[in-house]
Amino acid sequence: MRISDYHLRMKSRIYTYTALLAFILGSGLQAQKAAPKQPQKIDEEYTRTIKQNLQDPRITTELVDHLPASDTVPSPLKFLGRAVGTPGELTYAKDIYRYYEALAKAAPGRAKYWKVGTTEEGRDIVLLAIADEATIKSLDKYRDMLGELTDPRKTTEARAQQLLHTAKPIYYAISGMHSPETGGPEMLIELAYRLIVEETPFIQNIRNNVITLITPVIEVDGREKQVDTYYFNKKRTPGDARLPLMYWGKYVQHDNNRDGMGQFLKLTQAVTKETLEWHPTVIHDLHEAQTYLYSSTGTGPYNNDIDPIVVSEWWTLAQNDVMEMTKRGVPGVWTYGFYDGWVPNYMFFIAHSHNSIGRFYEVQSYGPDPYEVRPGATTTSKEWFRPNPPLPQIKWGPRNNTNIQQSALLFSLSHVAKNKDLYLENYWLKNKRAVDKGKTGPTYGWVIPATQRRKADAADAVNELRMQGLEVSRATSAFKAGSVDVKAGDYVIRGDQPFRTLADMYFSIQNYAPQNPSPYDDTGWTFQYMRDIKILPVGEKNILDQPMTMLTADAKAPGGIEGTPSTSLGAGGLTLVVDHTADNNLVTFRFKNKDVKMAAAEDDFELSGHKFRAGSIVIANADRAKLEPMLKDLGLSAWAVASAPSVKTHDLDVPRIGYIHSWTRTQDEGWWRAALDTFGVPYTYFADQKLREGNLRSKYDVLIFPHVGGSAVSQVNGMPKTGNSPLPYKKTAEFPNLAFVDSSDDIRGGMGVEGLVELAKFVQEGGTLITEGSTAIIFPEYGITTGVTVEEPAALFVRGSILRSKITDMKSPIAYGYGTADLPVYFNQAPVLNAAGGGFGGFGGGGRGGAPGTNPNAGFGQNVTPNAVPLRIQPLEADQNPAPAGRGERPAADDMAQFRQMAQQFGIAIDDTRPRVVMQFSANPTDMLLSGTLANGQLLANRAAALDHPLGKGHIVMFAIRPFWRWQTQGTYTLGFNAIMNWNDLDAGKQQAAPRGTASQQPQ
Ligand SMILES: [Zn+2]
Repeated sequence: MRISDYHLRMKSRIYTYTALLAFILGSGLQAQKAAPKQPQKIDEEYTRTIKQNLQDPRITTELVDHLPASDTVPSPLKFLGRAVGTPGELTYAKDIYRYYEALAKAAPGRAKYWKVGTTEEGRDIVLLAIADEATIKSLDKYRDMLGELTDPRKTTEARAQQLLHTAKPIYYAISGMHSPETGGPEMLIELAYRLIVEETPFIQNIRNNVITLITPVIEVDGREKQVDTYYFNKKRTPGDARLPLMYWGKYVQHDNNRDGMGQFLKLTQAVTKETLEWHPTVIHDLHEAQTYLYSSTGTGPYNNDIDPIVVSEWWTLAQNDVMEMTKRGVPGVWTYGFYDGWVPNYMFFIAHSHNSIGRFYEVQSYGPDPYEVRPGATTTSKEWFRPNPPLPQIKWGPRNNTNIQQSALLFSLSHVAKNKDLYLENYWLKNKRAVDKGKTGPTYGWVIPATQRRKADAADAVNELRMQGLEVSRATSAFKAGSVDVKAGDYVIRGDQPFRTLADMYFSIQNYAPQNPSPYDDTGWTFQYMRDIKILPVGEKNILDQPMTMLTADAKAPGGIEGTPSTSLGAGGLTLVVDHTADNNLVTFRFKNKDVKMAAAEDDFELSGHKFRAGSIVIANADRAKLEPMLKDLGLSAWAVASAPSVKTHDLDVPRIGYIHSWTRTQDEGWWRAALDTFGVPYTYFADQKLREGNLRSKYDVLIFPHVGGSAVSQVNGMPKTGNSPLPYKKTAEFPNLAFVDSSDDIRGGMGVEGLVELAKFVQEGGTLITEGSTAIIFPEYGITTGVTVEEPAALFVRGSILRSKITDMKSPIAYGYGTADLPVYFNQAPVLNAAGGGFGGFGGGGRGGAPGTNPNAGFGQNVTPNAVPLRIQPLEADQNPAPAGRGERPAADDMAQFRQMAQQFGIAIDDTRPRVVMQFSANPTDMLLSGTLANGQLLANRAAALDHPLGKGHIVMFAIRPFWRWQTQGTYTLGFNAIMNWNDLDAGKQQAAPRGTASQQPQ
């Protein structure tokens, strides 16, 4: 404070002298005009901090080695009390907001600040716009000009040509998505000031020709937790365990950057909303997970449905960064590598699905405590994409981080400003080409039948696509388009719209050749497969001329009560039968009417001329007045009959649900919560540590334990008990952002074997435990269940793909509502569950210890044309290939016996009941892959995708697939919902159990 005051006094004194001098010299303004322009004054104090805080003198450029002074606009130092890049300090989003607000107030001609969204926890998401005075004054006009360039259906070529010279590109910078990556938001504090204040021709050119939009923190909830966590740890006693960042947003951590397609999270929705309103030319997302500075291009394969112009734009922008930074001798700015560019689930892909440019940086971490970086040879070698590579050793810290990314971002802004006509022309061209695709084919549009089996889910899908900017129409009368019979009311997505790019991306079938470099994330995402709905491409141009009107409000599936009893009501009154169509809203209906007695049919049946699937809900003595509006609202159909159908039923007992999470990882489990919260399934959320308290069965009927990751043992052990004192995750006056979603006095130590025993007891006493992914292996690996073997086939390669699964037991309550045996499912490498009897019947291909996700290309020379040999992919409908006969056998793992013994020591009675396999992966490896990638599918053939393992009086449901994945797999949500709703009757429809395997290999 003292230094600041002194500085202020000095500054005002200097200004007095200058003013006086100007007055003495006569008209200062005229003198300035005549004389060459004076260089802008420097903020000496701030500039000193830049030099002092810099960890290495090579990590700087002329753009960021100083800060210009201003009389009217507060510097970060003046406003926040410290300069950006100060070691050992982090800034809360709320303080960044205060600063941005102050900037816009101090420089209203050059900056505008407003709120654009609200997070799950109620915090603001904001935007700061920066440009020259004339542009800020007419911001709406410039927004509308880009809107015109977006839509060639409304804008003439002549008007567009004019706009290419008068419009201005928008460059939208976003940061703070990954909360532990702390530097981007800090750097953006300084960048905003510099862009508003600096008067060099370089910055003036940016200000005059580009509109810069900044959202400094997009995961606001996580940022505040991160800053709290940092300062909390600073106060911990040396030797005590440090608190990891437990939750970021309410639902997920790192996956907040995998929500670009699902768009469940508020932060994604905010960016989509901004994209649809402003049509940013570039969306640039700032991250921190690489050495020095990686500018995105990726190794390929690139997404098939982005316009090829985008690929050139990626490379031009990245190469500009590399060149400009290399020119200045800054080491370690590079491109290529790191990721692939394939899956459109990243936030910056929102730009691509809307014909703009998306890109990102990965910067060496901010810290904020300085540290040393010593990368290995594969990072420091000189390569074509890395002419000036990172050094074998360097001192790093917050100021290096600020300098390197601020400089590169300024070079990008400058490049777009200098080439604004080019980028605007490209944008116009991409929109035109998208519309033209609809006129020239081969795909002229898509039809989503409104009355298809899952009609509520189809309407849901339509609404989510509309939210992302895709125009959807409804046929006003029936017609035939090519081979597609369109009914009045069906949804039509015209192919001749600019954002059809999104439809192309989402509805296409992915073919990721395993010869490519190892995929960075999911390889398959086909929208209609993941949602188990019909979306029909139309290859006939006449669809564009058919009668249809554009939807201007949310679609709603038809629903309500059909049919009325033909005879007068019996003594039992009105009976309602709600068809189970696998629509996700059925679970909503059940839980909205907890007090209504409902029963589920245990078999398919026919009634009033309608065929009902097993699982359909029968409600005797139904209160029509209450239930009918609800059914209508949910898009579900029921039939009113005089008496119950003769099919066997069981009561749908409403369960008390417990939801288990682990403190070791609060990431993937959130996707289950997202679905339960949205569809109205209540639960009690608690940490696995609490399992130790026991008495679970008296509290819960169903326990949900979603994927944690790691081995069975690591999941049971939880966070290691390091340090001498407890590690609390609690809200305090000092750290008010902690302890959400859950809290604990000590997060160390997981359920332990004691907790596992309690979990087993819960099942044995009649509870239903639902597991998926990694948690599905705990019981088999500990030998508590004996009918499933966990295989780890090293040669299997299936990375986030959509595979064909077969419902092998249509009468299992878990499969209720599904119309056909073939169901597309999302599967990612593990776990491979063999329920074929004692762990053989499959060819292990190397047995245990294999590395999942091993790149099959490893060890071979570089394949530069990996896409030349596409994989064989079959359409979902054509499943005509016989399975190859004869498969090898693999001995059972002998350590299971040991686990069993151990479990018995802890008092778990193990019975030899066989699991009921509900779904398994296709028997035929050649028709297994529906979208994505797969190698050595024979290692997955016939393995369980979902099974129900009885244990004592209860059940363990094991999903090898991930039924609730990233708000994309709506098609498999109902598997989970069915297990919840029918928890007390999972044995319904079960075939007489076969005697336990006679196989001699069965461990004893
Ligand atoms: Zn990141």
